[in-house]
Amino acid sequence: MALRQDDKKFHTLLDNKWVGSKSGETVKIYSPDNQEVTGEIPALSQAEVDAAVAKTADVQPNWEALDGTERSELLHRWAQELEKMTDEIGDMIHKEVGKTLSAAKSEVKRTAQLIRHTAEEGLRTHGSFIQGDAFPGASKSTKAMVQKVPHGVVLAIAPFNYPVNLAASKIAPALITGNTVVFKPATQGAVSGLLMVEALVKAGLPEGVLNVVTGRGSVIGDFVVTHPKIDMITFTGGTATGQHIAKKASMIPVVLELGGKDPAIVLQDADLDKAAKEIVSGALSYSGQRCTAIKRVMVVNEVADELVAKVKERVAALKVGPSSDDADITPMIDQKSADFVVSLIDDAKQKGATVVHEGIQDQNLLGPTLLDNVTEDMEVAWEEQFGPVLPFIRISNELEAIDLERRNAYGLQASIFTKNLENAFTIADKLNVGTVQVNGKTSRGPDHFPFLGVKNSGQGVQGIGRSIDSMLRDKVLVLNL
Ligand code: NAP
Repeated sequence: MALRQDDKKFHTLLDNKWVGSKSGETVKIYSPDNQEVTGEIPALSQAEVDAAVAKTADVQPNWEALDGTERSELLHRWAQELEKMTDEIGDMIHKEVGKTLSAAKSEVKRTAQLIRHTAEEGLRTHGSFIQGDAFPGASKSTKAMVQKVPHGVVLAIAPFNYPVNLAASKIAPALITGNTVVFKPATQGAVSGLLMVEALVKAGLPEGVLNVVTGRGSVIGDFVVTHPKIDMITFTGGTATGQHIAKKASMIPVVLELGGKDPAIVLQDADLDKAAKEIVSGALSYSGQRCTAIKRVMVVNEVADELVAKVKERVAALKVGPSSDDADITPMIDQKSADFVVSLIDDAKQKGATVVHEGIQDQNLLGPTLLDNVTEDMEVAWEEQFGPVLPFIRISNELEAIDLERRNAYGLQASIFTKNLENAFTIADKLNVGTVQVNGKTSRGPDHFPFLGVKNSGQGVQGIGRSIDSMLRDKVLVLNL
């Protein structure tokens, strides 16, 4: 059987065979642009998920036994096949998650680069050798060889917003290090993920080394997360889901990339044109549906009017419409997410925020809304909006920004805009976040930089080198000579 059952229906991958669910049950995926069905994926039963995990575990020792160079070559071929499928996969990302075609194709190309870099970097992992005599009572003749070995079976769970990139950024490091993979794509974005896997099959994936479990996370999630044959979990998604998974999974490593409420802190001496440009693209690319989107601006009173005016001018020029029209602001992933953003806007308005720019509200298509004079009692000051609304909080000085940020439940990234680098370093030292960007928007990448969130934004570190590290554990062999 092939991946495609017909125009709309897709199979999933089990043991290098494309299969449907035995029950015939499927989950439908609706286009954010027009609510038409873009695809249907198998809704696997727990027994089918169990079989997929068991198979992935069975073949793991063989995969680990291969030379690292062979695993690396597979990843290089995967990158090549993926690039060949750029148009097809780009078109599917565009339809499934409502990204413009150019952004969707860029995601595929960036993913091929990420896989290649991982294929190289994975060859450079190494253990260490320790002599015993540094500890009292032990002698030089006691020596430890510390090897790096894979965990075994990795469960990779991806979110909807980068259905290919944030899947491959888990799968590639897992495979290069000798782990086998159970891949759970986000339902919205699952077909894009399956096409990415098709490229891996074309590249020569050995049977069973990666299996895909499709179906709603709420139905099969707990079962697979708690499966005794899963040895490590790597997850990107919402904070509530991540916390739920962390509680369920016990005695295995869990890496979590979760939500954020990244601030842009704008000081009096900032280059306001640059700050406005970075804030608009940082906050509103893909309609703000990015973990690292700028989600609140803290601007000192002296330059607040000017900054707000510059941001407003740029926002007014953005095109709002379906992703098929190549618009800048495209429909949100679903109605529930749009309703949540509208509720935050309504709450802020009711509590006295100034609406500087009001976006249209047409079902799940929301134009960008700018809210000024946002105060601490408003939900939009603290909640992750994950959509096209941007709150401005006016502050007296940087100490207020530090205080506001330290009370943030999230800790992914922060941006500081200032010409005084010394000041930027001092503020950066005081922010409890994974990454501080100076004079640039918050963003993930380049993909080999460490990427992490603290507090409710995650646990563990991603980024190519660190993701590879997270897929390995120490195994110690002690020689007593
Ligand atoms: P989500 O609703 O948490 O879903 C993420 C994944 O978890 C999906 O594959 C989902 O499957 C699955 N899932 C749901 N319930 C599960 C369970 N009980 N057990 C196992 N898996 C389960 O998140 P999303 O809406 O796709 O993504 C948006 C969120 O992700 C935002 O909060 C954003 O900030 C965050 N995010 C963070 C980063 C980062 O790097 N820090 C990057 C991107 C996104 P179904 O789709 O089938 O429900």
